[in-house]
Amino acid sequence: MKLKYLGTAAAEGWPALFCNCEVCTNARKVGGKELRTRTQTLINDDLLMDFPPDTYMHAVRSGLNFSKVKSVVVTHSHMDHWFPVDMIHRHEHFAHNTPGMLQVYGNEAVEKSYYEAISIDRFKVHPLDEAVKFNLLKPFDKFETNGYTITAIPADHDKRENCLVYLVEKDGKTIFYGHDTGIKMSEEAWAAISAKHLDLITLDCTMGLKRIDGYHMGLADIEEVVERLTKAGAIDDSTVKVINHFSHNGGLNHEQLDAWAKERGMLCAYDEMEVEI
Ligand SMILES: [Zn+2]
Ligand SMILES: [Zn+2]
Ligand SMILES: [Zn+2]
Repeated sequence: MKLKYLGTAAAEGWPALFCNCEVCTNARKVGGKELRTRTQTLINDDLLMDFPPDTYMHAVRSGLNFSKVKSVVVTHSHMDHWFPVDMIHRHEHFAHNTPGMLQVYGNEAVEKSYYEAISIDRFKVHPLDEAVKFNLLKPFDKFETNGYTITAIPADHDKRENCLVYLVEKDGKTIFYGHDTGIKMSEEAWAAISAKHLDLITLDCTMGLKRIDGYHMGLADIEEVVERLTKAGAIDDSTVKVINHFSHNGGLNHEQLDAWAKERGMLCAYDEMEVEI
């Protein structure tokens, strides 16, 4: 499988829209890898993990044609992961010569905001029934989509909805896609994640130097997760370990996060980074 990190920031972006902190000021000055859009990952050319408001920019910036995308798997309804109103543009009126149905997967909050977004007045004349199919997921659901086997794992995140992280399997390889979550997932969730050898793990690193009581992870949590999964036999030296979904509030810039990751044999994601497993 090939992964392309289309965006690698938390909700506020990097630099954050209205912020003058050191990390954001440095990002505006330096540019390049110090600039991050909201988190989204393309697997091969046909599976999108999350659908943030920067999805349009990601397609244009990376020269991608999202008519090839067959499935969109959404982690939760936070705005940096789910911008449902753009789904209307999959209708034939805006998407010519794009046959087939786009399969979208998500929890009940993602479903609710999807139907709200596509039923606002302007779009009533363009029903999506022929173009987009919404598939509701519950924790621990395992499903097949376009040759991928995906398992929904309950995250440690916003308790108002069933936030999900995912195991994605194809061609004998397995990815753990862990954005957004804190470290305090249930024992059942950890058991499901540890049940097989993981070829790539991509972990929430929103908090950087800080540590909070669940919801998101920081660098200290990343070290604990790597230790836990290594002990469980789920990861080893062959596993690609990626940190991702960064906030300026974590206190480190990309160069510093990258140095931290390199010291530990990990990858620090940046926008348009590609990894193949
Ligand atoms: Zn997020
Ligand atoms: Zn800032
Ligand atoms: Zn979130």
